Amino acid sequence: MDRTKSDQLHNEALSHLVGGVNSPVRAFKSVHGNPIYFEKASGAHVTDVDGNVLVDFVQSWGPLIHGHSHPEIIETVHEKMLNGTSFGAPHLGEIELAKRVKQRFSHMDKVRFVSSGTEAVMSAVRLARGCTGRDILVKFEGCYHGHVDSLMVSSGSGLATFGIASSPGIPHDTVATTLICPLDDLEAVEYLFNEHGSEIAAVVIEPLPANNGLLVQRPEFLRGLRTLCDQHGALLIFDEVISGFRFQEGSYGDLCGVTPDLTALGKVIGGGLPVGAYGARSEIMEHLSPLGPVYQAGTLSGNPLAMAAGAKTLDLLSKEAYQHMDRLGALLEERLGVVFEKHGHPMRVVRRESLFWLSPGDGTPAIRADQIPKDAAALYADVHRALLERGYMLAPSAYEIGFISTSHDESHILGMVEAMDDALSNLEW
Ligand SMILES: *Cc1c(COP(=O)(O)O)cnc(C)c1O
Repeated sequence: MDRTKSDQLHNEALSHLVGGVNSPVRAFKSVHGNPIYFEKASGAHVTDVDGNVLVDFVQSWGPLIHGHSHPEIIETVHEKMLNGTSFGAPHLGEIELAKRVKQRFSHMDKVRFVSSGTEAVMSAVRLARGCTGRDILVKFEGCYHGHVDSLMVSSGSGLATFGIASSPGIPHDTVATTLICPLDDLEAVEYLFNEHGSEIAAVVIEPLPANNGLLVQRPEFLRGLRTLCDQHGALLIFDEVISGFRFQEGSYGDLCGVTPDLTALGKVIGGGLPVGAYGARSEIMEHLSPLGPVYQAGTLSGNPLAMAAGAKTLDLLSKEAYQHMDRLGALLEERLGVVFEKHGHPMRVVRRESLFWLSPGDGTPAIRADQIPKDAAALYADVHRALLERGYMLAPSAYEIGFISTSHDESHILGMVEAMDDALSNLEW
């Protein structure tokens, strides 16, 4: 595929934008290529500036559960836009979206909308600290919660320790209140609670960790976290920014039989416009300003276009829509599995409904960050490039997952499987 114009634009962008991008993972660094400049996108397809059409399994990294430019979502936003793009004042659209969110997340009495997933988690953490009067957070290695200072932490030398900042620019004191644990290790969490229980404000986790591969946790582990939080008066925060609304009924927490105290949302609830949200029962949410002392605000929070796109997106999530995505997911899992096996390629498909990950290694798929084989990136880079040449776009990183939308159909899945088959016939690993 010719990418002359894309490469030209990338070179130009390098003079104006850091690394040519506004979010680092778009840079294609880990798959050794240049980013592709998009011109337009519709349904399962994107068209780049060189006129190449690609089947897209990135879908803007999760928000586009109905694919690109869904006609009903576009029409809704267009209609709303004629009434104004931002009010800075309350409007009906906020109530409409809040009602829909509460229907799914039954532990929420009140919702607060913000403009990104990062903002949602950051604010949920502040609220948890504010209403418990405690400072310490527990987070897990391999979970991503946006670029929140206190959560940009990797583990130090021990297994259950205070973390070290995973980026310069984060004060030592900020991460000194974050404890970090491996996933799937309840004993480590128990140990932390025994040591610091009365100071722990909250345990924060992606109940379905999906930013470092798809590390499917045992429900008993999540239930164990619930019990420990209850025993020690800490709050349990579920970051469902990716997993929220990806499952047919309720939340991912419900699927595992665990009710968190606070949930952070993003991605799907904005239908492709910038939205995040967090919510909890009233006694927690009432600590928030203007009712309570915990401050959090936003000029564009509850933006009318974003609220409308979100509500329309959720309304389009019928039972049939979920069944369609799950069927396609199952097809992809089964057929790709056959292809990997046929070629003896060390990759496995890990899938939950419309979310999938090409897990490196042919043993039991990882459920902890440290179980992911070290050669994951190299193995993935070749597969990524080969699929791209054949018209199929996966995320440009071995640790990112793929997204199926309601706009995908069987031909996109079978086409991708065929492309993989062909690619593996020509690759060595
Ligand atoms: C994407 C993501 C975030 C951050 O959301 P942004 O909208 O990118 O700020 C936080 N948590 C999880 C689990 C995510 O997947």
